[in-house]
Amino acid sequence: MLGESIKGKSVIVTGASKGIGKGIARVFARHGAKVLVVGRNLAAAEAAAGEITGMGLVASAFSADVTRLPDMEAMATAAAERHGGVDVLCANAGMFPQMKIEEMSPEAWDEVQATNLKGTFLAVKACVPLLRKSGEGRIVITSSITGPVTGFPGWSHYGATKAGQLGFMRTACMELAKFGITVNAVMPGNVVTEGLAGLGEDYMKGMAAAVPLGTLGDVEDIGHAALFFASREARYITGQTLIVDGGQILPESQDALSQM
Ligand code: NAP
Repeated sequence: MLGESIKGKSVIVTGASKGIGKGIARVFARHGAKVLVVGRNLAAAEAAAGEITGMGLVASAFSADVTRLPDMEAMATAAAERHGGVDVLCANAGMFPQMKIEEMSPEAWDEVQATNLKGTFLAVKACVPLLRKSGEGRIVITSSITGPVTGFPGWSHYGATKAGQLGFMRTACMELAKFGITVNAVMPGNVVTEGLAGLGEDYMKGMAAAVPLGTLGDVEDIGHAALFFASREARYITGQTLIVDGGQILPESQDALSQM
């Protein structure tokens, strides 16, 4: 059965204290993985891990900042000590403050690059030695449709990082192929998270209206795509992307949507 190979695997999910990462962590734990739930805020990571262990599944929390290599190395060590190694890294942590280019300071640009793009590199770099030992190591990056495919005013810095992650992936997968490690990326559309839900019903309805399948994504929709890339069945897939967006990028105009 698809996903059965995840049983007993040690999985790290960065940015798993809430949102998409929490959904990814839950899906992997439900398939029998031992999940390290990572975020900067330890209490939030512990609460998210506690929800998983409360279901009788295996997870533990770790506080780390993806912008710091020593933190990423400590994270990999913690997974090895607690869960016996690192088989899967889900490099998911990210930030998306909305600001237009005219208001954007160089520091604001740098902060988003450091978290989303350099943070992906640092998490991968720190986990490679243990992923090599796994024998069937998997890296799954959370990118986005925003940047690689679409644009959105206020997210030029964000879009650059999400496209940059894919550029990183296409060489990383070649460098790591000889160790049997695959590197792939999930590209979510609009997914309902705690932050998005806070924007209110009307906002969410408006966004869902732009999606051919008629609803926004659930965090577990992204979790299932990550699970597929991490599964043994996906062993021959590397350097690839999977858009999970309910068809959002497809309509070529508002008119196309209205004629459905
Ligand atoms: P979210 O709800 O804001 O959660 C972000 C997570 O990342 C939190 O757990 C946060 O915990 C952690 N994080 C942020 N900065 C960090 C850092 N420097 N070091 C370690 N952890 C850090 O975000 P989300 O919407 O789930 O997004 C998660 C990923 O999905 C991002 O890469 C985002 O670009 C991508 N994505 C989201 C959507 C969407 O619709 N939501 C769509 C496309 C792509 P702490 O603050 O405690 O560190």
